[in-house]
Amino acid sequence: MPHPDLPAGVPAPDLLDALAREARALEPDADRRADWDAAVHALADRFLDGFGRRPAWGGSPVPGEDPPAAPGEEGAALDDLLAALERGWRRGLDPAHPGHLAYIPGGGLYPSALADFLADVSNRYAGVGYAGPDAVALENGLVRWLADLAGLPEGARGHLASGGSTATLSAVATARDALGLEPEDIRRAVVYLGGQTHHCVHKALRLAGLERAVWRNVPLDARWRMDAGALEGLMAEDVAAGLRPFLVVGSAGTTDTGAVDPLLELGRLARAHGAWFHVDAAYGGAFLLVPALRERLAGIEAADSLVIDPHKGLFLPYGTGALLVRDGEALYRTHRYSAAYLADALSGGGDPADLSPELTKHWRGLRLWLPLRLFGLRPFRAALAEKAGLCRWFHRAIGEAGFETGPEPDLSVCVYRFVPPDGRDPDAFNRALLDAVLADGGVFLSSTRLGGRLWLRLAVLSFRTHLDTVRRALERLVRERDRLLAAGA
Ligand SMILES: *Cc1c(COP(=O)(O)O)cnc(C)c1O
Repeated sequence: MPHPDLPAGVPAPDLLDALAREARALEPDADRRADWDAAVHALADRFLDGFGRRPAWGGSPVPGEDPPAAPGEEGAALDDLLAALERGWRRGLDPAHPGHLAYIPGGGLYPSALADFLADVSNRYAGVGYAGPDAVALENGLVRWLADLAGLPEGARGHLASGGSTATLSAVATARDALGLEPEDIRRAVVYLGGQTHHCVHKALRLAGLERAVWRNVPLDARWRMDAGALEGLMAEDVAAGLRPFLVVGSAGTTDTGAVDPLLELGRLARAHGAWFHVDAAYGGAFLLVPALRERLAGIEAADSLVIDPHKGLFLPYGTGALLVRDGEALYRTHRYSAAYLADALSGGGDPADLSPELTKHWRGLRLWLPLRLFGLRPFRAALAEKAGLCRWFHRAIGEAGFETGPEPDLSVCVYRFVPPDGRDPDAFNRALLDAVLADGGVFLSSTRLGGRLWLRLAVLSFRTHLDTVRRALERLVRERDRLLAAGA
């Protein structure tokens, strides 16, 4: 059969009917939808009930195993497509797995999946309030809730982005404009970063045209937190040299070690020098929900811009990061737009489309709103307190097992390594230890380099991780350590 096509000229009604008969495949009836729903739910249930039977780490992908992505002319059977998906899920990392204790663990709250389903079925327009007043009110309400959580003032605005990296890009562009940085100013503008600043900030600076600014690497203290005294010295030197402090980036929970920078002092120094204070709380921001950890995050309320990733600490599936900007007008000035074809729709300032790089926008707020409203905040506070508590428990236990430990965890990440008493190279030993633990895949850990040495990490942030899993990680590390020691050099 030839492909459906449009002949020259005005088509006859029977041709339009024939095209419509084929096109109606895109509009499944209730029976077909029910069949598909059942098949998809069966797969989801197998996945959700199968964590105990499968590893957190399924090994490297096998070339040629993935189904071809490109569509064929004829449709395929849903069962075949789902089977191919399920095969693919066996490889690599299972980010929703309780045994995922590496990098920054992922989430995947079930109500978020239901919310995405409804957002997609209704396809509410979340960019402009004229079109989707409910969707826009919900997103802006969630931004307000996050701003209140962080202690930002009434005038703060923000948006829900696809993740922390894109939110950071908007933050840096807003800082550039708010401080009136012109192209000729860039080479004299100074950006203060630390050795543990997330690389998305470097990327955002490059994308925002600020690569040629002066980038200072502020020394860290013994706990891998930015050293505020060193920052003060650098800023004074820069001012004396005729440079302009432009941006100070503090981390509320670094990815590598979970360290929280001294935000109060960083904010004070930024303000004193007229610089913008950006706080990267992509990982750590959600811990504001734990009363006992709020003090550790003190100073976050001084941020000029703040990034919090709900797809990390609020356990959402990937695809949601939040940007908050103290001066909402500044965010608006950098992201506003106008277009003749949108003249009816412009509402003057409160639309996500005016406060973010996006126009047509997924109704991202729903996947945050439904779990928060459905569960209430209590289980979130409990889960976050539990994760931080599990990390403290592990930090003490691994030390008692004879490992060298990094600083007490600020939040839910800690580092440790084993120094073999027989003089073997510690880096090689810990590399071998990590490989041995990963070989069975039950828990997934990762490593990092700090001060030129290899350290192993534990990051607890999956809502499915509880004491049994962290205990298993500890047991695996101790058993493999003992085995490697017994095997000798
Ligand atoms: C994950 C992370 C980011 C980047 O966020 P994405 O959502 O992955 O784009 C930035 N900073 C920190 C501290 C992070 O942990």
